[in-house]
Order: sequence, then C-alpha cells, then structure tokens
Amino acid sequence: MKKLNFILLIMILIFALFTGCSSKGNQEQPADNNTSQETKEENKEKDKKLVMYTNAEFAPFEYFEGEKVVGVDADIAQEIAKDLGKEVVIEHIDFDSLIPALVTGKADFVAAGMTITPEREEEVDFSIPYVESVQNIISKKEAELKTMDDLKGKKIGVQLGTTGDLAVTDAINLDDGDLYNTGAEVKTYASALEAALDLMTGRIDAVVIDKLPAEEIVKNNADNLVTVKFGEISEAYGIAVEQGNTELLESINKTLQRLLDEGKIEEFISNHSN
Ligand code: GLN
Repeated sequence: MKKLNFILLIMILIFALFTGCSSKGNQEQPADNNTSQETKEENKEKDKKLVMYTNAEFAPFEYFEGEKVVGVDADIAQEIAKDLGKEVVIEHIDFDSLIPALVTGKADFVAAGMTITPEREEEVDFSIPYVESVQNIISKKEAELKTMDDLKGKKIGVQLGTTGDLAVTDAINLDDGDLYNTGAEVKTYASALEAALDLMTGRIDAVVIDKLPAEEIVKNNADNLVTVKFGEISEAYGIAVEQGNTELLESINKTLQRLLDEGKIEEFISNHSN
C-alpha cells in the first residue's frame, strides 16, 4: 500500500512538473512575441541607418567641425545614403581599428581615405577607386629634407597602420630599403596631427603621410613646415565593406561613379581644403 502511495505521489509530481512547464511556456509565448516585435522595430530603425566608420584626423577627407565629422568622405557618405534612402551615422575611431570594425560587423562601410592594398583586400572588399594619392614628407623649413636620401638617419613619424607607416618601415627594415642601416627610425602615432606636433617640438625630424592631408597640415603651419613628395608610388582610395556585401558595394560604386562623372569629388576636395 505504501508503495502504491509512493508511485501515486511520483505520478502527481511528474504531472505537476509537466503542466507547470507547459503553462510557463504558454505564459512566455506573448512575451516572446513582444520581444520579436521590439526586435523588428529595432531592426527597422537600424535598416534606415547606414553606419560609416572613419578616423576623423585626416583633413580634407575627414575632420571634426565641433562635434561633427565632416570632409570629403562624409560628403560622399551623405550621397551614398541619399541614393539608398537612408541616413548616415559617422563614428570616429583609430585608423588601425577600422578594418577590425568592419570585419566584426560594427560598421556598414569604412570611408577614411583608405588606400586599396592587396593585404587589406584579403580582409575587406573595396569600391572602385575615387581618389589618387602619393605619400609626402613633412619637415621643418630649415631642415631642408627634400628627398629620400635626406631622411637617412632621421626620426620619422607616421600614423599607425597606414600606407605611410608601411612605406617607411619597409624602407628602414628591408635590406634593399632606401633607409636600411642608415640609423633612420620610425615612430608611430595615432594620427598625423600628433606626429606633426612632435615635429614642431623637435622630437622627430619628419612625418610621412598622404599628400593632401600633408598639405593641410603645412598650410596651417606655413611659417614652419614644408612638404614634398616621399615616393613615386601612386595609391588609390576606396570605400571598404565587409567581404561579400555585394549589395551595398554595388550601390556605393554607383554613387561613386556618378560623383566622379559629375566632378563632385573634386568639388568636395576644394570645399574642404582651406
Ligand atoms: N591612405 C593611407 C592609408 O590607407 C592613410 C589613410 C588615413 O590615414 N586615413 O593607409
């Protein structure tokens, strides 16, 4: 008899557990619906936004005007968003964190005067080229650093992770590099502006950075600084998207082609060059 009672008790417990679970499940159903409703709304909001990541220390392509990031790339981004019926949101981070931000899905695209290189193409997809550039040397007027030869034994500042960084590091480290074994040293900075400050105070002898940003820095310090070409290698800027995001890439390319055809990119450059 005792055994029977015990079995009965177990059966009641199992039943209670089962109905308990299922009723709990039923209660959660509407909550789940709410969440998915909310997620849908959130996604709709997200769908209207196009997130651009950049490093806003690269005038005329991107720089701060108060709290706002403006510049050639910001103007291009507005056009891309307009053509897609979306609104662009611009985030500023360090240059060498831009590709990781794309790869981890934080950004829809990166527009940062970024040179298309085979190494970067292994991680992201690039648009058609929209600007051509070369590397420039910035130095103090009286230093007369005019050629690669003049950089032998000098301390050279670069922006971390840029093509300027790569060019100088290779020139110093490769045994057929122009600055190999000359005592030349590379110093990396978060931005060319920070490097330029160190140049002014004499901590370094030169800064190597893209032509137009170099010219902007020199224009703002015209009494002290000069800039000349660093090398002959021509670089092309592209807008980067996550690999395989062909839909966005195609619309970016369409907008870029239209802007190039209309001469708008030249216009944006002259608007943002002071
Ligand atoms: N064009 C250079 C590069 O891609 C520098 C870009 C930048 O500093 N924003 O590395």
